[in-house]
Amino acid sequence: MTLVLEDPVAAPATVPVLRPRRRAARPFPTPLTDAGLRQLSDRLEDASAEDIVAWAAAMFGRRLTIAASMTDAVLIDVASRVSPGIEVIFVDTQYHFQETLATAERIRDRYPIRLRVVWPEVAPDDRWRTDPDGCCQVRKVAPIERALRGRVAWLSGLRREDSVTRALAPVVQRDRRGLVKINPLVRWTDEDVARYIDEHDVPVNPLVARGYASVGCWPCTRAIGEGEDGRAGRWDGSDKTECGLHL
Ligand code: SF4
Repeated sequence: MTLVLEDPVAAPATVPVLRPRRRAARPFPTPLTDAGLRQLSDRLEDASAEDIVAWAAAMFGRRLTIAASMTDAVLIDVASRVSPGIEVIFVDTQYHFQETLATAERIRDRYPIRLRVVWPEVAPDDRWRTDPDGCCQVRKVAPIERALRGRVAWLSGLRREDSVTRALAPVVQRDRRGLVKINPLVRWTDEDVARYIDEHDVPVNPLVARGYASVGCWPCTRAIGEGEDGRAGRWDGSDKTECGLHL
């Protein structure tokens, strides 16, 4: 897939040039190469989450979407302020906690978003016990890939502080599907998230207050203890660290 960027080399290294344009007459005049993405990511490194989302919304329009885990609505809060009506994809794996499904409903009712819930094409089973990679593939990765068809870019709430495996995540990257993946919160610390939630009264999955720093499916998620990595409660007892969505 070849994507294009409006002359990333010629643009000054300041953030305001990345603010949304009211009308993008030539949205993709220059190839958005891997080198261009790296350069862009470097330029956005110090930009605010709002400016990063604004750039993405101006660049990709309705071909931009959000993948939400419903752990909290921080990214949705930021994105829906900048780009009301933005699409949000939530994969209902059929193994979510009731608290997560209730949080999705709260978020749908609160924000000006187009919430799109997608499901796996398989019935509930016990595959997670013996083949978690395969289970994630059919319950998370395949549904999100179907949902991303026709999209060019997506926003993720991934943060460097989530885990050591995410410590070097860039602001902008190409994912393994060839889509542009944008991580507006990538530099945010846990304190930044907590402050934003407090200041903006952002909905949070109640499981977070019970120690579930990262909320996934109930068979594969536990609360973490003091000093543990934020994602230590995911797939505990195995060396699996990601569902495949962020690989
Ligand atoms: S997190 Fe667990 S239950 Fe959910 S899709 Fe992955 S393996 Fe299956």
